[in-house]
Order: sequence, then C-alpha cells, then structure tokens
Amino acid sequence: MDTIALAKLLFPNVTTTPEELEERYPARNVPEGAVITRMAPSPTGFVHLGNLVQGLVSERMAHQSGGVLFLRVEDTDAKREVAGAVEVLIDTLQHYGIHFDEGATKDGDAGDYGPYRQRQRADIYHVYAKKLVEQGDAYPCFCTEEELAAMHAEQEEKKVNFGYYGAYAVWRDRPIEDIQAALAAGKPWVLRFRSTGSIENQFKYTDLVKGALTITENDIDHVLLKSDGIPTYHFAHAVDDHLMRTTHVVRGDEWLPSLPFHLQLFRALGFKTPKYVHIGPLMKMDGTSKRKLSKRKDPELALTYYKAEGFPVRAVYEYIMTLLNSNYEDWRKANPTAPSDDFKFSYKKLNPAGALFDYAKLCDVSKNEIARMDTETVYTLALEYAEEFDPDFAAVLRRDPAYAKRILAIGRGGKKPRKDLATWKDVKPYMGFFYDEFFASECFPAQFDKAAIRSALEKFLAVYDFNDDATVWFNKVKEITTALGFAADMKEYKAEPEKFGGSVADVSTFLRVAVTGKTNSPDLYTVMQLLGYDRTVARIRAAMETL
Ligand code: GLU
Repeated sequence: MDTIALAKLLFPNVTTTPEELEERYPARNVPEGAVITRMAPSPTGFVHLGNLVQGLVSERMAHQSGGVLFLRVEDTDAKREVAGAVEVLIDTLQHYGIHFDEGATKDGDAGDYGPYRQRQRADIYHVYAKKLVEQGDAYPCFCTEEELAAMHAEQEEKKVNFGYYGAYAVWRDRPIEDIQAALAAGKPWVLRFRSTGSIENQFKYTDLVKGALTITENDIDHVLLKSDGIPTYHFAHAVDDHLMRTTHVVRGDEWLPSLPFHLQLFRALGFKTPKYVHIGPLMKMDGTSKRKLSKRKDPELALTYYKAEGFPVRAVYEYIMTLLNSNYEDWRKANPTAPSDDFKFSYKKLNPAGALFDYAKLCDVSKNEIARMDTETVYTLALEYAEEFDPDFAAVLRRDPAYAKRILAIGRGGKKPRKDLATWKDVKPYMGFFYDEFFASECFPAQFDKAAIRSALEKFLAVYDFNDDATVWFNKVKEITTALGFAADMKEYKAEPEKFGGSVADVSTFLRVAVTGKTNSPDLYTVMQLLGYDRTVARIRAAMETL
C-alpha cells in the first residue's frame, strides 16, 4: 500500500507538518521537576466532587513544583455539550480555589499553547492523523452503523471479544482502489489506528497512584477521527497533551483500561508519554458495603449541593485535602491558621482504590473551619448564604448587624471555641430565637412536674436583676434550685439523685426553654444579656402561661 498516496487522498488540504507544530509549541521553559498538568473536563454543565478532587490534585502537583496548571475544554462530543457549561466550570472551580495559569477562559483563551477548546483544534489533529496514515499506523474505515452492529452481534454469539480487531478489522488491509471508490461514492469514514498489539502479551507499567501494574496489550483498531473529522478522546489526549507539554496526566481511573491504547498512540506518534496519575472514584458507605458515589443516587456528588447546604467553600476544600492526604488533619491541628498551600501535598498518599466520602466527617471539618473564623467573616458568609437561600432571615441579620455580630461572637475565639455551626444553614436554628419572629417554643422536659417548673420561673423573676454579673446571676439560680428541693451541687446530685427532685442543670433547662425555646443554646447568662431585660422577662412570663 502506498501510504503516502493514501494520506494525500484522505487529507488533501493538510499542508502543515508535525515539525512546524513542534516549533509552534516549543518545550516549556520551567525549572527541572516542574509539573505541567491540566484539567480537561467535558462541558456537560455538571461539575461534581470528582472534578474538584482531580482539580485539587492537579493544582497542588503543578503549583507546589513551580509548574503550570491549564484548563482544556474537551468539547469533542457536541451532543453532550450544554450551553454556558464552560462558564459554570470556570466559576465553580475558581470558587473552590482552583486557579488556572493558562487555558480556556470564559470568552477565549489565555496562553501560548492554545487553542484550548478541542473543537478549535481540528486542523492540528489532522496533521498528526495524516502522519499516522503515512506511517501505515492508521487507515480509513467505511463500515456503517449496521455493519458494526452485525459484527457485535456475531461476536456476542461466538462469545469472542467485542471490537474491531483481527478478522473483524475489515478495512484494515483493503486495497487503495476500494478506498478510492468508497471516497468517490461519498461514503462517510472514520480513521482507525492500526494496532500491532496482542492480548496474548502483557507488559509492566507504573502508575503514580496505582503503582506497578501488569497490563495486557491492546489489539483493537480504535477510532482516532470520527466521520466529522473530530477526534476521539484518545487521539485528542495524545496530541494535546504532547503539544501542550503536559508532564503529568491526572485523571479518573475509568481511563485505565484505555491506557494500553494511549501508550501505543504516543509511541506511534513519536511522543514522549506523560506520567499518569489515575485516581480512584469517590466511594461512600451504603449499609456495610462501599460503593461509588453516583450522580443518580447521591446529591452530594454535585458541587451545587455544598453551596445549597451552606458549607463554606474553605470547609469543602479542607475536607478534600483531608480525604486525599491523611496527614492533612494533624497538620491542620498543628497549624490552625496557616494557608493550606503551606501543607506539603503528596500524590503518593492518595488511596489507589478511591477515597471514602463521609458526610459526618465533612461536617466535623466544617465545624472546625467555622470555629476558626472571626465574627466578621461568619456574619458576612452567613448573610451571603441567607440572602440567596433564606431572604427572611437575611433581612433580620441585616436589620441590626451589631446585634447579629454580638450573638455570633458568643464562644468565638479562645482555646476552645464553640462548634455549633457546620453549615450556614445551621445559623438560623442556632440563633433564630434571638429574634422574636423566629422564636418558637419547645416543650419543657416532660418528666418534671409543671408546678415545679412554674415555681422555678416565678422565683427567678422575683430575683432577676439585669445588672447582676454572671457569678451573682448563677448564685441566684442555685438558690432557686435549693429552694425547690433540687440539688445545687452536681456532685451531690450524681451521688444520690433519688434524694432530689432534680438538679441545677434542670433548673437551667427550665429557664433556657422559657427564654430560648430550646434545650440547647449558648451560655444562658449571655443570652439574657443580649436579649435584654424586657424580652427575657416577657418570654419567661409567656412560658409560665403555658404551664
Ligand atoms: N474529558 C475527559 C473526562 O472528562 C478528560 C480525562 C482526562 O483528564 O484526560 O473524563
């Protein structure tokens, strides 16, 4: 076969040479060991936690090594593309702290290695497609959908491997005359790779996360260019990551089965292969077994979920770091205020089987994150969330910012800050009672006699003085406790509970339920100080009415 003639026949308009492209996209001028990597999402409009995990690993590997992180939009599948998806993608990743040094931007490109949208690179792929045909490494295939379906059915019946290989690769060795005739008849064609691999052969390969692997060779003549001249993921991956000078490919391990083909392609194209970092999927416990997070079943896979739930962006970031590098948590404890980039991230610590997503742990990390924030930040972020998701609550937060901040300041700072809030959604149930419009009374504990509760509240009203300090205030609560025949001393109570009707803790609960409507609240003395004398007394009186 005259492959040069075939290449001319298939790509009559391609005049650019691979050498010219090599010159147009020269090796990058970066320090030794710098990682050049990328995110290469398809613009489907759905940004998920897996994107963020992959983005974060790539971002850390690039920036920690003095390298480059770029964004390439893999829009070769026009059917799956959603309008505005690139904008959503860029905004979302930026929101979570992933910044690109170059690549696709909302309205174009930034960088010398573009274009960064694959559909705009068709000419570039054709240069290499032509080269592969010239070398005898690729050929056109004119099989129709029906022919391929019939082939699949036959393979199913014969119980042999599926795919276009061996005797099934019917266009592999067709004479050029057949190809000319098919072209002349205007038949659509795809370009296929001529695989020389055999499934009888295995080879060793080391993935940076999966470790040493034994891999079976690829024997399938996969499609490189679809009938519209647009490349498949595989071909675009090889061409783009070569020309963009990617040193490390961080991607989901669903691509691992394609690796033998990718390695063949790089070899045939004369490209140096990048290092691969195949990351496992995010898993979760479902009963007692683990399974992959699924788009259909698990709302927590979508990044929009975290925003709607009110997790601070930094909490999600911190949580993912904890998931990826198990030593991150201890580092964070030792360095509570350090920027997360000071942490020495290592891809070697990634779990090859995939990280286990744990909602309770995320809440925990988030509580710590919010506990580390100052009042001003908490106020701003809580308000921002409420503006979008709970306008009524936003209105009260805005009405008197100083009051809201005094509330949010309770128990903040110091060695043991309170950790009431895991999300911005928690803010309203936590502090809503400070506002009359959100105050809702809970029931008093049922095991106590209503008369005893009433008497405790009555006694409190009789002695309550707004100007008391916390100690005097608490002494009064204790006196009321004793007068009720309850234990003012918790130790005494615990030693012989049957001797008392209850304890000082119970009396505090009576007051707490009356004043806050809840059995759980920040320090009650402080609450009363913030509510003011009149509202405190009014609430206690109203509670007594219900008894
Ligand atoms: N477009 C591919 C995907 O979204 C990219 C995989 C890669 O990073 O190479 O899965």
